[in-house]
Amino acid sequence: MATVYLAEPMLRFRCNLKGCCCKGWGIPFGPQDATALLVAFPPEERAEILRGASFETDDQRKITAVRLRQEPPDGACQFLTKEGLCGAQMRLGVAVLPYICRAFPAFAMTTGSEVELYFDPVCPEVMERIADPDGPMTFVKVQPEPDSDLAVRSSRMRPFEEITIGNRSLVHSEYDLIRARILQALSDWSRPALERLAQIHLAVGRLMGGQPVEAFEVERDRSVEGFDEYFDQCVSCHDSRILGRYWVRLRRFVFEPELAVLEVEGLVPHLEYDPKWHQQVDLLEPMWQPLLYRFLAHSFFSTYLHHPETSRLSMSYGTVTHTLGTAIRYALAFASCLGRPVALTDLKVGLSASSLLYRVNVVPPEAMPWFRPEGR
Ligand code: SF4
Repeated sequence: MATVYLAEPMLRFRCNLKGCCCKGWGIPFGPQDATALLVAFPPEERAEILRGASFETDDQRKITAVRLRQEPPDGACQFLTKEGLCGAQMRLGVAVLPYICRAFPAFAMTTGSEVELYFDPVCPEVMERIADPDGPMTFVKVQPEPDSDLAVRSSRMRPFEEITIGNRSLVHSEYDLIRARILQALSDWSRPALERLAQIHLAVGRLMGGQPVEAFEVERDRSVEGFDEYFDQCVSCHDSRILGRYWVRLRRFVFEPELAVLEVEGLVPHLEYDPKWHQQVDLLEPMWQPLLYRFLAHSFFSTYLHHPETSRLSMSYGTVTHTLGTAIRYALAFASCLGRPVALTDLKVGLSASSLLYRVNVVPPEAMPWFRPEGR
């Protein structure tokens, strides 16, 4: 079995068993997985399981995905119990579950010699592991035990492809070197995380300008002109109604009592961009640094576009900063709606909401502001 490379805190990831990812979307089961699940049930029950199912096919009319019937009112998988548990698993054991059920919230990619696992911060348990106040995020290579969760999660992977920065193509070893230097810079918490992010942008900018990959370096003492203005543009992106729409989609993943009850109609006015947002939250303050640094490290570890329904992998460093900017909008809105100062919980949930928005949407680069430092 291949070595698995992942963020160390994700070794402690455990599903919260609340069923949040088993509803609200048409879960695309692989055809063989769906068949295996179906035949595990007695023959007399299978027609009912298949009632209302839809099938996706490719150009050769081969079935590529099966979506089983979802139940009202929240589009829950037909096997999800009222308690949030999986009825199929309870009755027939974990081995009958489709791969996507066993693998989520992890996405696996292979370099040929090892597998990289990335955990989706939309999942509240992943966000809890990111927010562990443990110091800098570390990344480990482990050999999974046979049949362990890690082994299952890394059993089906996509190959790396399409590694580009700007117009520049990279082979995986080059990408690996750049990433290692970025992660190293993000383990040095001597300056506020936003300053480090600015330095990363500057370093990536030099690379896009033609610098050799071996010379890539995040200059940790360098001050970066113009980044605050750029980050402000990232915060200002997106209409409040769009952000509200993603709040509706995220709510099934939110278990913080005071945030879980926020209705979109009440939240949208608070999601409006306020140019004076800095007065509500100073991201340079010490209280924000552990979460910001750890979220950035988690994000820069795997800057691929991850989506269970797309087979395409593309890479974007800029999206990390946009995700953070949009998360600030959510955090500010939660606090404003509740009439209290911005809390760490607001930013955690904001990061999940923003991660969902940027995972589901492929925003064209030309539609977003990008940092163009002078004199790279
Ligand atoms: S089969 Fe079970 S784990 Fe999979 S989506 Fe349905 S309820 Fe969730």
